[in-house]
Amino acid sequence: MRRPMVAGNWKMHGTRASVAELINGLAQQQISADVDVAVFPSTLHVLQVVSGLAGSDFAVGAQDCAIDPQQGALTGEVAASQLHDAHCSLVLVGHSERRSVLGETDQVVTRKFAAAQSSGLTPVLCVGETLAQREAGQTLEVVAAQLSAVIDVLGVEVFAQAVIAYEPVWAIGTGLTASPEQAQDVHAAIRAQLAAKSPELAGQVRILYGGSVKAASAAELFGMPDIDGGLVGGASLNADEFGAICRAAGS
Ligand code: PEP
Repeated sequence: MRRPMVAGNWKMHGTRASVAELINGLAQQQISADVDVAVFPSTLHVLQVVSGLAGSDFAVGAQDCAIDPQQGALTGEVAASQLHDAHCSLVLVGHSERRSVLGETDQVVTRKFAAAQSSGLTPVLCVGETLAQREAGQTLEVVAAQLSAVIDVLGVEVFAQAVIAYEPVWAIGTGLTASPEQAQDVHAAIRAQLAAKSPELAGQVRILYGGSVKAASAAELFGMPDIDGGLVGGASLNADEFGAICRAAGS
């Protein structure tokens, strides 16, 4: 039985004041103990969030890490070991905004995945197809290639300590959500790809759905057999909405 997980990606949002407000709002949410909940503030606000949520059940993650795990001469980057030192326990790798806007390749994403794990962080590997790729019937091929890029270099065993997020690019921040059936098809294919190498591990890996998840759509998505929770962007900036999504994962 996989424990559901809901992760809130705050992206490049927030000021110290709005982050403090969000922390207060989150602290008031009643969330089932059966759900793992994590928030991913901007790196600038990680320490504020870690201290604001200390003693709660919320985990804190980062939105990215450097390709090298250790501190060093890499201006502007943050090492996974530094994130670990700041009490982050997870990190997103390969978010589509970084792949498309910043040109992150599968090779870079794989290095970040490895850097995260070697520093004791759980990577959340984001995969997903663009609208053009979906319309060309390439969804499963694209997602399989993004997953293979990590498996081929690091081995399937690394997914024992990782989370996968399927995020169709056309659904991120657009208000369009994949239907539960569309999402389930891709989640099942991801799990089958893992199962071909390790059936036991495939049964344990959590695969989150991301793409305009709202409280109103969450329960139906999370009710699908291979959807183990959500990676939530915009709706995670509203504590009550995010709390409702987390509650949907526990029901
Ligand atoms: C995301 O950024 O990972 C995401 C899913 O965003 P949104 O929920 O806003 O589509």
